[in-house]
Amino acid sequence: MSDQEARVVAQVDKRLFLGGRWRDAASGATFGVEDPSTRTILCEVADAGKEDALAALEAAHGAQSSWAEVAPRARGEILYRGYELLMERQEDLALLMTLEMGKPLAEARGEIAYAAEFFRWFSEEAVRIEGGFATSPDGKSRFLIMRRPVGPSMLITPWNFPMAMGTRKIGPAIAAGCTMVLKPAHQTPLCALALAGILAEAGLPEGVLSVIPTTDPGSVTEPLLSDGRIRKISFTGSTAVGRKLLEQSAGQVLRTSMELGGNAPFLVFDDADLDAAVDGAMLAKMRNIGEACTAANRIYAQSGVAEEFSRRLSERMGALRLGRGVDDGVDVGPLIDDKARQKVQGLVDDAVGRGARVLVGGGHGEGEGHFYQPTVLADVPMDSELSFTEIFGPVAPVLTFETEQEVVAAANNTDFGLVSYLYTRDLNRAFRVSEALETGMVGLNQGVVSNPAAPFGGVKHSGLGREGGRVGIDEFLDTKYVGIGGL
Ligand code: NAP
Repeated sequence: MSDQEARVVAQVDKRLFLGGRWRDAASGATFGVEDPSTRTILCEVADAGKEDALAALEAAHGAQSSWAEVAPRARGEILYRGYELLMERQEDLALLMTLEMGKPLAEARGEIAYAAEFFRWFSEEAVRIEGGFATSPDGKSRFLIMRRPVGPSMLITPWNFPMAMGTRKIGPAIAAGCTMVLKPAHQTPLCALALAGILAEAGLPEGVLSVIPTTDPGSVTEPLLSDGRIRKISFTGSTAVGRKLLEQSAGQVLRTSMELGGNAPFLVFDDADLDAAVDGAMLAKMRNIGEACTAANRIYAQSGVAEEFSRRLSERMGALRLGRGVDDGVDVGPLIDDKARQKVQGLVDDAVGRGARVLVGGGHGEGEGHFYQPTVLADVPMDSELSFTEIFGPVAPVLTFETEQEVVAAANNTDFGLVSYLYTRDLNRAFRVSEALETGMVGLNQGVVSNPAAPFGGVKHSGLGREGGRVGIDEFLDTKYVGIGGL
């Protein structure tokens, strides 16, 4: 590690953040955080167990009623200060993220800014929680409609966007007046711990937030979900784990928000602006090393442009530089671990076994880290495993189609429904296809849809609820109605 790398790692408190106080795990256990680009251990962090989780719950429950009474403007100002601190420390935080997660520094900087924007957005939303007033249809009573915080919330985040997935949940929870217990992914606890420190500095009262990294997620989340004091779970991660958490949430009938896996189709029609489509495909595929729920997983190119599109895409993919994210000029970092790399290789091998052609890449990169080459596959058969599986890596499979009807059916032939992309210059087709695609979001002539001011989320097995936008705060609010009689 360079001196600068060692400095940013040393700045983070490696203990648990329990209700505003830094503590070792009750068991004294710790675990190592790996740099996926070198496989070296960056540092040890406290490993929470059940006892720590219950202490976090106690803190969240204890602080809930006083936190709900804090003025919306004051809650918003804490968020705004959090936004400022994130941006002031963007450079150090980006380096920290690159070290524990692997993405290139430029992308990590972008994620810090994206993460900070959730705090800015929800600092503005905190003061715009509105209710309603109405006269009943028979004129005999009045309806007063108010919004109240749902209460202590369990937040569970993945490793691929270690800062933004935290702020996307913490931002609306603070704005709504909910207390929280955050369990980050074991691969990326450092960003979450750094964020806890920033929020404490921004003035978040004790008890409102706890952060409990662990190597045994079930043992800390299950006792909390089965305890009636937690009222809500907000989860981002795989569909398999989301399903399990939904089952566990049924016992206490929890409010649930689920941001789950994707399998995004990316449609390029013959009439598309091909330069724009290639740019869009590069973004939709390669943002975050392909490790994004929004990643283009199946690229469908119409037969008139398929060959030229594949050629241009391969040229761009082949020019990308693979390496350690902290190094200058690196475009693509390592995958998160070797299991992820084996999975990607298995999907490529399956497609090639069924007749796909490798235009570029197709194998492991050089070096100690979990590197995989940017890869383009052409002539991918529709029944390849990767048509139905989230690749989560830098592999772009191109499938060819003839008609609009055929491609819409193929795009929708998946259990997932997070996002889809389409490139066309035909206005009627743009509307028709946008409506027909069974996804929560559509990128129409654009390769990125994520924006803190827009409602992010999926349908089908991609999840429940929305994060960001005007509706993001609703996930943390209950609606209460007072019927007023005797008039
Ligand atoms: P994952 O294995 O489901 O893990 C996500 C989180 O759940 C981690 O914090 C993980 O902890 C925790 N977890 C795992 N098993 C658990 C259990 N039994 N009980 C409670 N918590 C448990 O997913 P991942 O591989 O980290 O993330 C990639 C997935 O997230 C992809 O499918 C991607 O599409 C999805 N994702 C979706 C969105 C969206 O907004 N829709 C955004 C980003 C990512 P450990 O780390 O300790 O296992």
